[in-house]
Amino acid sequence: MLYNELGKSGLKVSRLGFGTMRLPTVNSNADIDEVEATKMLKYGIENGINLIDTAYPYHSKELDGNGNSEKFIGKFLKENSYRDEIILSTKSPSWLMEEKSDFDKYLDIQLEKLQTDYIDIYLLHSLTEPDWFKVKDLDVLDFLDDCLSSGKVKHVGFSSHIEVDYLIEILDEYPKWEVVLTQMNYLDEYYQSGIMGLDYLKQINVGSMIMEPLRGGRLVNNIPAEVQKLWDMAEVKRTPVEWALQYLWNRDDADCVLSGMTSLEQVKDNIRIASTEDIISENDQELIREVARTYRTFLGNRCTRCGYCMPCPHGVDIINCLTEYNIAHMMNDPKASAMQYFSLIDDDSRADSCIDCKECIPFCTQMLDIPKELQKVYEYFGSEFDHF
Ligand code: SF4
Ligand code: SF4
Repeated sequence: MLYNELGKSGLKVSRLGFGTMRLPTVNSNADIDEVEATKMLKYGIENGINLIDTAYPYHSKELDGNGNSEKFIGKFLKENSYRDEIILSTKSPSWLMEEKSDFDKYLDIQLEKLQTDYIDIYLLHSLTEPDWFKVKDLDVLDFLDDCLSSGKVKHVGFSSHIEVDYLIEILDEYPKWEVVLTQMNYLDEYYQSGIMGLDYLKQINVGSMIMEPLRGGRLVNNIPAEVQKLWDMAEVKRTPVEWALQYLWNRDDADCVLSGMTSLEQVKDNIRIASTEDIISENDQELIREVARTYRTFLGNRCTRCGYCMPCPHGVDIINCLTEYNIAHMMNDPKASAMQYFSLIDDDSRADSCIDCKECIPFCTQMLDIPKELQKVYEYFGSEFDHF
């Protein structure tokens, strides 16, 4: 295993972190297959992984309920006496906070679930812009100060799918952020905060944890023939997982890549890759860019996320509606995109809130008939996640 410094936190982290939102299950998402998951985690730790990441809702019955991942991890660490060897990361469910005391309430619940009296890295989970303003009004920064001085939390940060401007705004408001969890893979350099966000984190020495390195497995399953043809032309032959992970580890701004592993085979393969120094040549870097361009030809519309059509006077999140529709087509995985669509976009900002006023059309740099495109998005995703 190879290790990196996690920014100014001073933590030395394995460059592969164990994400625990896709542990093996029996019957339902809430029923973790504990025997199999224990084997996977033990193998991971014995072979150098020293960071485990979980969150309040992972492996819950509902999309954002009280999940079983933290409970299982707490039990696993206790029974195997691993707590002190592991950097434990979990997340405060920002969207559930209604009053100031809720921060402490949820932290105490999480400490109990995790059977520990401290959390190494505590992230405000999936901060959206409205959530950030809400938690700021509830004095979240005082809460974080208190957590740090009481020792209940060693390092604080946030996870987010926001655009780079908001990322920087949040980072600049609090000097004690030490870690940010952000999405990155070779398709997403310009999606959400992307490479500009990582660059800023590097500049201010805030550690970066990476989510979705394989885009939920979509960069490695059902590879389109056009993409496979390109991979076959590479100077060095690599598996799709090797391409995706080594792309990140060839960057100098991706400190710890979280992989949400589902089987022991995946753990073994990822550890093998994480333990190999593999410098990608300039030609092969160009090939990765060509693969990304090829994936983009499968997009459902031409939206470039330029933002000129925003804000919609009726509150429609045009950019993200069109983007999730695009990703669903590009990756041929409607269910995964639907999960993003329904969890990242508020009820009243989804495509079905468009009233066809046409005010946005003249602003579209790609000359899209935006309400018509939104209608396609609505027909595709429907109005409830259950539709899938
Ligand atoms: S057509 Fe739809 S998306 Fe465009 S401005 Fe009107 S309500 Fe908003
Ligand atoms: S102006 Fe057009 S291309 Fe730009 S974000 Fe809006 S819909 Fe997409």
